[in-house]
Amino acid sequence: MGDVMDKLVSLCKRRGFIFQSSEVYGGLNGCWDYGPLGVELLRNIKDSWWKAMTYREDVEGIDASILMHPRVWEASGHVDGFTDPMIDCRSCKARFRDDTLTEAQLEAGQCPNCGNKEVLTEPRAFNLMFKTFVGPLEDDSARAFLRPETAQGIYVNFLNVQTAMRHKLPFGIAQIGKAFRNEINTKNFLFRTREFEQMEMQYFVRPGTEDEWFEYWREERWNWFAGIGLPESKMSWHEHQGDELAHYARAAFDIQYAFPFGEGEIEGIHNRGDFDLGRHEEFSGKSLRFFDDQTREKILPSVIETSIGASRTCMACLVHAYHEEEVDGDKRVVMRFHPRVAPLKVAVLPLVKRDNMPDIARKIVADLRSSLPVFYDEGGAIGRRYRRMDEVGTPYCVTVDSETLENDTVTVRERDSMDQSRVAIDALKADIAQRIETWKPAGD
Ligand code: ATP
Repeated sequence: MGDVMDKLVSLCKRRGFIFQSSEVYGGLNGCWDYGPLGVELLRNIKDSWWKAMTYREDVEGIDASILMHPRVWEASGHVDGFTDPMIDCRSCKARFRDDTLTEAQLEAGQCPNCGNKEVLTEPRAFNLMFKTFVGPLEDDSARAFLRPETAQGIYVNFLNVQTAMRHKLPFGIAQIGKAFRNEINTKNFLFRTREFEQMEMQYFVRPGTEDEWFEYWREERWNWFAGIGLPESKMSWHEHQGDELAHYARAAFDIQYAFPFGEGEIEGIHNRGDFDLGRHEEFSGKSLRFFDDQTREKILPSVIETSIGASRTCMACLVHAYHEEEVDGDKRVVMRFHPRVAPLKVAVLPLVKRDNMPDIARKIVADLRSSLPVFYDEGGAIGRRYRRMDEVGTPYCVTVDSETLENDTVTVRERDSMDQSRVAIDALKADIAQRIETWKPAGD
């Protein structure tokens, strides 16, 4: 499994998907930069989520600030409770989250890093929030936090959005944004990082109707993954039981993807009851109640939350796309992205750099580029150019060749099957759009 991950990390760097943050300085642990192709992939995932979640009558989008009033994090429970149990090695000074150590290591006090025995400390609570200061004074009164989740920006804006958009219950608020957690151990590439992006939606419902909306959103969210190319066969549910349930949750289910290192949570769907709005009322002293003009009562809504990591989803798409296969005795590496999330949709390639072929190809690029991200490549043998596009997951290559000069048609080559067919230039735009729309993963 390390093997696949190593190959993927290397491809991501080589082909401009993901770079280590501050690499020239040796990198910063738990932080990654999205390169030209990675940023397109991430953006496509976010766009797909944004459309699914907000292009509907009952959900509005917002973009709240990352820095918030410090009392927010007292009310939310993060100041007291957003901690992981941390264990130190007294010998080599390595640090571990206690659930990353085995029973045997814990019993013997043996450090997995240096191997010494009886060197591990008892676990102590470590708060995962990054701290900073607002304004020039660096004292406790100026202390603020980088948000560890986007949800709180939604709770504190609940009444603003409701009033401005004149919503009745139930309705939701969605947002995409950065979140920061000072994780004790970062690992598995984009899976557990210190800076990442979340896509969260809080759905405010009438008390007593939580269960039906919880089921509704479980189904909606489960069905969304196939649309970005993550099939049901790789996904699973995990229900939180007993101790696993967060302080705010009445019920919680994770949607997991089968990563090479095991099942990993990508999204959580939570029934949070009225915990958050109730706490913000208590800590702010302001009413966050919704006036119900049917019953003429003020009610505190309950919340169903869907919380997904954009970065983790990006990682699942990368892992899932990676394929190696043998073609005519050669190894072919192909990223089988769903065309909807693929960073480049089309490459246009003149077969040779003469006979007007580059000019015709450039005209095709200009025409397609108004609606699709297109790559132009005229360098090297055509087979090698196809392979370069396979490796970054470009679903269609359009080749301008000698037949083009005779009858204004081009070759369209499909990434997955490598099948080629001829298409008239003036039908090309519609043809590609149709292929993207009707694409099915190989083997289905
Ligand atoms: P985990 O148990 O893996 O730490 P969590 O249960 O704390 O995750 P939530 O607080 O429910 O996660 O956050 C919602 C989503 O945010 C997760 O499903 C995941 O996709 C993403 N996420 C959380 N922490 C990280 C992280 N350190 N790096 C990348 N994505 C993260």
